[in-house]
Amino acid sequence: MLADSARVRGAEGTTHVRIGAEAASKEDAIRQAGQILVAAGTVEAGYVQSMLSREDVANTFLGSGVAIPHGLKEDRALVRHDGIAVLQVPDGVEWNPGQTARLVVGIAANSDSHIAILRRLTRLIQDEARLEALIASDDPEAIARALEGEETAAAPAEAATDYAQTAEWTVDYPAGLHARPASAWVETAKGTEARLRVRHGNYVADPRSLISLLQLGLREGDRLILSAEGTDARAALDALVKTARNLTARERRDAELAAEKQRAPVTGWKPEGDIAMIAGVAASPGIAIGTIHVLAAPDLDVPDTPVDLVAGGAELDEALTRTRAQMKSLIDDTTRRLGASDAAIFRAQAELLDDTDLITLTCQLMVQGHGVAWSWHEAVGRVAGQLSALGNPVLAARAADLHDVGRRVLAQIDSSLAIGTSDDLPDEGAILVASDLSPSDTATLDPARVAGIATVLGGPTSHSAILARTLGLPSVVAGGARLLGVASGTTAIVDGDGGRVWIDPTEADLASARAWIAAQQERRAAEEAERGRPATTTDGVQIEIAANVNRPDQVPFALAQGGEAVGLMRTEFLFLEARHSPDEDEQYATYRGMIDALEGRPLIVRALDIGGDKQVPHLDLPEEENPFLGVRGARLLLRRPDLLDPQLRALYRAAKDAGADGGGLSIMFPMITSVWELVRLRARCEEIRAALDAPKVPVGIMIEVPAAAVQARALAQHADFFSVGTNDLTQYALAIDRQNPELAAEADSLHPAVLNLIATCVEGAKAHGRPVGVCGGIAGDPFGAALLAGLGVGELSMTPRDIPAVKARLRRAAMAELRDLAQRALAASDPGEVRALDEQNIGAAGSCE
Ligand code: PEP
Ligand code: MG
Repeated sequence: MLADSARVRGAEGTTHVRIGAEAASKEDAIRQAGQILVAAGTVEAGYVQSMLSREDVANTFLGSGVAIPHGLKEDRALVRHDGIAVLQVPDGVEWNPGQTARLVVGIAANSDSHIAILRRLTRLIQDEARLEALIASDDPEAIARALEGEETAAAPAEAATDYAQTAEWTVDYPAGLHARPASAWVETAKGTEARLRVRHGNYVADPRSLISLLQLGLREGDRLILSAEGTDARAALDALVKTARNLTARERRDAELAAEKQRAPVTGWKPEGDIAMIAGVAASPGIAIGTIHVLAAPDLDVPDTPVDLVAGGAELDEALTRTRAQMKSLIDDTTRRLGASDAAIFRAQAELLDDTDLITLTCQLMVQGHGVAWSWHEAVGRVAGQLSALGNPVLAARAADLHDVGRRVLAQIDSSLAIGTSDDLPDEGAILVASDLSPSDTATLDPARVAGIATVLGGPTSHSAILARTLGLPSVVAGGARLLGVASGTTAIVDGDGGRVWIDPTEADLASARAWIAAQQERRAAEEAERGRPATTTDGVQIEIAANVNRPDQVPFALAQGGEAVGLMRTEFLFLEARHSPDEDEQYATYRGMIDALEGRPLIVRALDIGGDKQVPHLDLPEEENPFLGVRGARLLLRRPDLLDPQLRALYRAAKDAGADGGGLSIMFPMITSVWELVRLRARCEEIRAALDAPKVPVGIMIEVPAAAVQARALAQHADFFSVGTNDLTQYALAIDRQNPELAAEADSLHPAVLNLIATCVEGAKAHGRPVGVCGGIAGDPFGAALLAGLGVGELSMTPRDIPAVKARLRRAAMAELRDLAQRALAASDPGEVRALDEQNIGAAGSCE
């Protein structure tokens, strides 16, 4: 029994409260809290040191005068049973410079029960009046109740009731209710008119608010009551339950995949000796050697300039609208380049822009007389702090997302606030260590100074990881808090293939890692050195390698990568990027720019492919129930001569001015389904060409609809060439919306059904001697490229960065082998079987893989 602290027993263990304590320093406060826990028999004596050590790797100051010292995760064995020791320090104790703790809540927990305590605390610190009362209170029971009992300010009794219609559901997502499934709940809830509520015990959330749902901190096994009232309450409730249930299979599968990945044996480079290692998840390939540089979170100094409330509200609204538009194109672009699965992260981020809690808090701060930027920044900081404090790494990662999206909005409010974070990096060879990096942080990194990245949080599919891959920086994510404990200046090796960070390696290990890097670089350099050479197979068949490029200023890079042509210029981006419809003269200038930049090399310009996921707001097209199956591509062009004719005139004028051969220009129509569409579009081309007295140029079509692939022979009579759009062909052949994150893994362009359609298309084209290219994503995958070449595709067009590896792969194989490979792929029963053929190494990379 402790003489000077009161003991209160509660659901999460025993709480000991010391009223009116004094602490000379943070260390003193932690020791006092620790000693209370030791004396109560809650923890072993070593736990106090563990609590002190934690401070070296994490900041336990929650905000609003509350600190939560607790031991390191790896020392959980020192906890005998769960308990809390609260020091009420009315005079305060400095926790960090500028941060004073007056309620020091020492936590001992070897289960997840501390999450519940943190949840209450984060709610409590939003309620300043109640917190002040607790800090001044001489009643230990009141403090204990606030932490232990159900009766907290944020969960008042009347809030914890249900609406009239109820349904019960037990969380069966292994990772709990994290942002991705939660955003699906929000989407469903927003599509209904009823009042909806989600209750877990005495905590309730509004399912229309992502943050509100996340704050429930729901874990697998938590029993929920979902309830509704008002318009169509039963239907709304059923819809919500259905959404929740439908996500279970995917969540389970994702968890299994993640677990499998973790269990996978480490392949690749390994040190000889027994050196310290921090295991994380591989996020961007390659090995980097360097010195640790721990990146402090940026301290953004946002000026507080009060404005008139009406003007401020409008300013915030406009900034949010602009950011939504920015996020929309980011989602579209990522979906196109990387697939719907990667874009889902941005979708969840965009959802945060509509979060009512966040916007309400911002408005409350503005009402209190603060400026727009300051209020937004403050609200983001508070909400992100609450998410981080829940102690769930998945939610903490969402806090990083919130910071990122928050900074996008800030930059829209005041462009001077768009800043990077790594200004104080050493000149070279830094292994950047951070809690998490936002995409903006990663995008602004200087690859000359950064050798590799290791983050405490994050996931391998986070957009930061995607950007690290784009920048070619080896990267490990989810390495845990121990990473932050590694002192800046320490030598380390980041293995972005095996997901490991090796600390303080020996000279021998450094030498072996360097040799490994050299071998990898040698292979890459060999591919790059040869990128100017044609992709000719060992038996002399040349495949044309082209680039997907939308603007003249991107052409030099594409050519430098070894591009021999532009196989796809997506002209809808002229409309999307300009935020207005470029007129005929503007378009002419761009097409001339492309022709000039290519200096006679072939250029395939695709006529506008608007519709589906590529919506152009300023065209005010009618909304469609199912836009991918609606008026898209050629279908729109046939209905809108005001879009088609200026584009064709601009193209033919550019061809005419480029010389008798049209400067290498070809025109291509997207989304052709039936022969009559092509016949009519060709006729319009001819009318416009003749009127301008322009040279004839090849007119081809994209094969993106299964009907077109099946009817290739008939279409080939009227088309000068085909280019297969595998992105769309895959979605239409497999009936999988290319943006659907749920089905992203199944939307595989290597599905034998898609490959058979391509084979049919090649056969039909051959009957009329027409060339076939591919400009969808699979053309840039070395194995996919090998298969396509084997199917008889003569031109591959891809993202410029993919060119050297694709060329190298094709040059290593004989066409006879590739044909054989393709035949076996056509006979496979599923994409897995097709991918397994890759292991047979036809034209695959050499020794260091
Ligand atoms: C495709 O569908 O494969 C293609 C290249 O067109 P987009 O991605 O622009 O729809
Ligand atoms: Mg397409």
